[in-house]
Amino acid sequence: MVKKSVLIVGGGGAGIMAAISASKSGACPILLEKNPKLGRKVLIAGAGRCNISNDELNPSFYNPDGRDLLTGVLKRFGKKEILDFFQELGLWTYVAPDGRVFPLTNQATSVMDVLKNELARLKVSVELEVEIKSIHAKGNGFELKTKSGETKFGDRVILCSGGKSFPALGADGSGYQIAASFGHTIIHPVPATVALVIEDSWCHPLQGQKIKARAAARVGSKMGEWIEGDVLFTKYGLSGTAILDVSDGLSIASNRNQNSDISVVVDLVPFMTEEELLEELKRKVGKGLTGEALLAGILPPKFAGPLKEYLNPKKIEQLATLLKMRIFSVESTRGWNEAEFTSGGVDLREVDSQTLESKRQKGLYLAGEILDVQARRGGYNLAWAWASGYITGIASATD
Ligand SMILES: Cc1cc2nc3c(=O)[nH]c(=O)nc-3n(C[C@H](O)[C@H](O)[C@H](O)COP(=O)(O)OP(=O)(O)OC[C@H]3O[C@@H](n4cnc5c(N)ncnc54)[C@H](O)[C@@H]3O)c2cc1C
Repeated sequence: MVKKSVLIVGGGGAGIMAAISASKSGACPILLEKNPKLGRKVLIAGAGRCNISNDELNPSFYNPDGRDLLTGVLKRFGKKEILDFFQELGLWTYVAPDGRVFPLTNQATSVMDVLKNELARLKVSVELEVEIKSIHAKGNGFELKTKSGETKFGDRVILCSGGKSFPALGADGSGYQIAASFGHTIIHPVPATVALVIEDSWCHPLQGQKIKARAAARVGSKMGEWIEGDVLFTKYGLSGTAILDVSDGLSIASNRNQNSDISVVVDLVPFMTEEELLEELKRKVGKGLTGEALLAGILPPKFAGPLKEYLNPKKIEQLATLLKMRIFSVESTRGWNEAEFTSGGVDLREVDSQTLESKRQKGLYLAGEILDVQARRGGYNLAWAWASGYITGIASATD
């Protein structure tokens, strides 16, 4: 029997996995990547340590619209299957106390090395510096046009061209136009997991200051859930893990829904309730303390500047309320060049939930960040790239 040729557009985590899985399922995959090397985002993931998955991998960590589809996908290729897959390739991993899974070497290059070794072992054809400009259905297969004017033919296509975050690394959203040319709806992509631009008198004097805090997104009067983590003051606004984790809802409200009433609420003293904090401040006042001494031991001394007018025994009630719920009005996000993920993409209702085959075009599959799936930080996004790549690889080879 003649092997099916499967053209895979995009050599990121999803595309590499799709190529490996299609090859193992008996197809003849060709991996097409516009960059001079594969997996550039894998290499920078987790600040170069590559957080490949999470010990608690379940749909609740993903966007609500993605959860039904994720339930089916992760049942077939979830936490165990991802780890088994990498172990089989020879990658040793460990689980950090917060559940994130990393290579034991703490180096993303180890992840890329084992993947590239597997592509070579399976003799997968990899074509670098090939940028696909258009895809058309032709006969029982597809015709792809490259930027340099070449034409390529294949029986099946898996579109793994990523989202829009970090466009310098390759994924610039061009895949959305290709998907749209087949009639797909693109849910307006917006930057996700991204620092916030805030014009507030606190940010400049506190720039560089990082504290353990809690943050919550607020759109109009509706507040989201509190997320604990770092809050980092910068010259343009706020960053840090807690801010990145609440940024998605704010980015959607601002960039997709044109809502300008968006803010982030920060609890600067998450280790005490407001009542406990007030008691503590009263205790200090009782000892004759005032000014900066009221804050000492609770917040770093830099906070004394912006809080000056409240460091007064007569204002400790206002101070306690402010420290527990400081509201920062958000101007915008720092945009695509700094966003770790994309929120939005190809509408999930338009792909088969079992195979991720397009419902608009038979033989076309979609995997990875191009689809409207995203999760908070923690290895969930790469887990999605691996899982969706794996499933489309099998489906394209065997349907
Ligand atoms: C700074 C940063 C850190 C991150 N850290 C983590 C982490 O630790 N853990 C985690 O789970 N997630 C992390 N992520 C997110 C994760 O890396 C992505 O969600 C995931 O890599 C997406 O995989 P993908 O294959 O769908 O897309 P991509 O990795 O973006 O791959 C798409 C590929 O397609 C190529 N391409 C695009 N258009 C074309 C075309 N027309 N023709 C040919 N090729 C094309 C691109 O060059 C690119 O190589 C991080 C992201 C960033 C930006």
